Amino acid sequence: KSRQLIEAERLAAVGETVAGLSHTIKNIAGGLDGGMFVLEKGIELEDTAYLQQGWKLVRGNVDRIKTLSLDLLNFAKTDRMAYRPVDPGQPAREVFDLMRSRAEAHGMDFVLEVETGLAPIQMDPAGIHQCLLNLVTNAIDAVLDTEPADGEQRITVSVSAAESGGVRYRVADTCCGMDEPTKARLFQRFFTTKGERGTGIGLMLTRTIVHRHKGTIDVDSQPGKGSCFTINLPDRPR
Ligand code: ADP
Ligand code: MG
Repeated sequence: KSRQLIEAERLAAVGETVAGLSHTIKNIAGGLDGGMFVLEKGIELEDTAYLQQGWKLVRGNVDRIKTLSLDLLNFAKTDRMAYRPVDPGQPAREVFDLMRSRAEAHGMDFVLEVETGLAPIQMDPAGIHQCLLNLVTNAIDAVLDTEPADGEQRITVSVSAAESGGVRYRVADTCCGMDEPTKARLFQRFFTTKGERGTGIGLMLTRTIVHRHKGTIDVDSQPGKGSCFTINLPDRPR
């Protein structure tokens, strides 16, 4: 490829990113605007129902800004991973502890399975933490989207030795699953089926981090049955 072509492609990618980001930010600003409008109405009419509804909108959109800025920060950081030997169970335990109360508050069965005696591997622990957090967050979103759920929903995070010598992380849910068109676009930047609530950055970021580790990420999903994401990491990112 010529230098010029590469440069043109790079500029196009930057343009697309900026366009997608502006769109997301515009949506959040719109949500905040709407929330404040409802709040103002509640104040004017001294009506708690309006106040609660407006507050919920403002809250939700502030949460979205937090997620978006964290995702972007992490995305910027994927350029410089800091590898060191880490117990592969560690990031999984951290994410499990962090998300446990949220999953259980919604009545989900949240399970962590860590194989014993796993050897340390070279990884960026914050990066892998971020990957697992994204997968678990998506699984919880999926459970919430399938409500009213028939029967108890389960999310399983597991860590085991990979056949290739590294480690294998799995995040599986028993929720809605995905159809083929969704599966095909899953990792694309800004691809989301969550409308206003999604950013479409989580999986793109996850894949970037996994690839930096020279690992692989795969998904197995069936509509109505559930999804299972598998990350395989080599013992070192060579
Ligand atoms: P976001 O969560 O902001 O939508 P992601 O990149 O994390 O962005 O995910 C992209 C899309 O992949 C989601 O909008 C959803 O359609 C699909 N997806 C990801 N994980 C799951 C899952 N566990 N179950 C069902 N759909 C999923
Ligand atoms: Mg997500």
